[in-house]
Order: sequence, then C-alpha cells, then structure tokens
Amino acid sequence: MTDFSILEDGIDQSREMIEVRRTIFFSLLTGREVSIDDLVVDFGEEVIPRIEELVDGGLAILDEEHATIVGAEGVSLEETSHRLSIGGTDLYTWCAFDIVGIPSALKVDAHGVTNCPTCGRELRFSSQAGVFDGLASDGELVGFWPNSQGPVVENFCPSALIYCSIEHLKIHKGEIFEGSALPIDDLARRGEVTWRIFCN
Ligand SMILES: [Zn+2]
Repeated sequence: MTDFSILEDGIDQSREMIEVRRTIFFSLLTGREVSIDDLVVDFGEEVIPRIEELVDGGLAILDEEHATIVGAEGVSLEETSHRLSIGGTDLYTWCAFDIVGIPSALKVDAHGVTNCPTCGRELRFSSQAGVFDGLASDGELVGFWPNSQGPVVENFCPSALIYCSIEHLKIHKGEIFEGSALPIDDLARRGEVTWRIFCN
C-alpha cells in the first residue's frame, strides 16, 4: 500500500501522458488555467483523449464554456474550502490532504489552511522546503484517508479531511469508519508517493 498512488490508479502511465499532466499541473501551480487549444498546439490532437481520461478519472476539471482546465491533481483555481499558497501564488485544493501532501512532495515553502469538519477550528500548515513544523507536529491531529475507488475528485477528496483529534473524527464519521486515521507525518509521506510524477 505504501507505494500506491491514487493519482496513478487505472491511468495511462506513458511518458506522453505524464508530460501532459506535468504541463497542466505546473501551470495551475503558478495560478494560470490551461487552455485546451494550447495543449493541442503543444502535444497534438492526441492530447484530447488524454484530457478526457484525466477528467473521467477525476484528475482534471474542465471549464467547458471556456475550454480550459481549472483544476487538476488536487490543485484548483476555483474556490474550495482548502487554501494553499506556494511561491506567493494563492490557490485552492480539492482536499485537506493536498495542502500537506503537495508541499511535501515538491519540497517547497507553502502555507495551507483548512478547517476541522467537526468543530470548524482553523488549521494552518506551514512548510519550509516541504518540511512541516508547528501545528503539523501536533500529535493530536489526524488526516482521514478514505478507502475509495474511482474518480479521485468525486470519491476520494470530499472525505480526505484533517481533524483536531481522533475524537473529532469519530464524532463526524462514527466509531466505525471506512478508512484510516493518519498522523500528519504519514500524510506528508503519502504525499511524496502521490505526487511523485511531478518530482524530478
Ligand atoms: Zn475539531
């Protein structure tokens, strides 16, 4: 399980696909949406079925009206309840796991904000070169890792939240829940696996 990435499950692992995904991801990270036309210029018409595969896998979100990609691989330019700032660019993410996992994988300075789903407490995470300190070292916090399959943004992200404590997780999900409760250090390590195709 430790080598499993939810971003690779059932998705084409060809070099071409990875290049397309990297282009989209790094554009979004600088706050720029990605035009489908530009991708066709860069990669040819065969990029269209690749984009469709990413959308079907819940790994990219299209703005159909403008033919642009406005979110991918956990990063969103559309507002969500999780915020992540990297390199001075203010972004949103699809889940709380992203605000820990992405900086950890990319080894960047970052600030992330989310809220405990149970009590609403604001949880702020800061990293330097992908290493978290402060709140992240609070051994009480737990990240929920859902047992999910299928499209990531629809099936995984809505539950991949961070709680003040195991007690707050159980208040929200019940005593018996389908998934794992992980310390922040474990979320960071899973981030390194999850976003590995974006690391050199
Ligand atoms: Zn709480």
